[in-house]
Amino acid sequence: MNRFFITQSLKGVLDAVLTDADLVHQVSHVLRLRAGDELMLLDNSGSECTAVIQNIAKGGVVARITACVPNANEPKNFVMLYQSIIKKDKMEWVFEKCTEIGVSRFVPVVSAHSVKLGFQKERAIKIVKEAAEQSRRGILPRIEDIQDFSDAITRVQQGGAVNFIAHNIGAHQQLIEAARTFHSKNINMFVGPEGGFTDEEIAHAKENGFRVVSLGSRTLRAETAAVVASFLLVQ
Ligand code: SAH
Repeated sequence: MNRFFITQSLKGVLDAVLTDADLVHQVSHVLRLRAGDELMLLDNSGSECTAVIQNIAKGGVVARITACVPNANEPKNFVMLYQSIIKKDKMEWVFEKCTEIGVSRFVPVVSAHSVKLGFQKERAIKIVKEAAEQSRRGILPRIEDIQDFSDAITRVQQGGAVNFIAHNIGAHQQLIEAARTFHSKNINMFVGPEGGFTDEEIAHAKENGFRVVSLGSRTLRAETAAVVASFLLVQ
């Protein structure tokens, strides 16, 4: 069944009136659905509602809610991926794949070796939404505003989470080992840019209580590291 995240709440709603232009286009022109066809609507509350299309018009789709159940596919850990901004297509790949994997929030970071200082947020939001629908998630991962590395390191301290930073140089505990021993559901994971983290950045993270972790003896591309680390942490 086709799944759609919507911005309005479905709490107590019988007939949902869906006016989002993308959704209307998708339903009527791409999927060519008709009255009587079913949809799955997600209002980002963690529940998912089956709905039957009543009417499709140019400006909107009316769908009757027939059943709402809790979505069962959100991971037990809340992983925030602090990804140093990398090249556009790689960054977008990280948004897509890490949404599929189960990252709960993305924080784009500008670090010392970042070559890119920005990303297209609107595009990223769309990518994350489509990946969340495709992977049957119940909550849409949020994309935070860009943070400076140093600020991000000190800000996460206030949260009471477990903080990891992935570094490919030197001998560090394997993330796969560390992931077995922490006792928090809230995890912040920092992954570097193409050029990696500087010694100073790693030292700054350590001073702030971060655990420096390895993803194995081979140096991975930043986007590979993001996917591997996220997968180990959401479990
Ligand atoms: N240009 C750097 C490599 C950077 S890899 C160099 O040649 O040394 C980009 C980022 O991916 C790193 O900053 C780190 O966060 C992560 N990463 C890649 N491979 C890793 C590994 N084996 N262990 C831990 N982190 C890794």
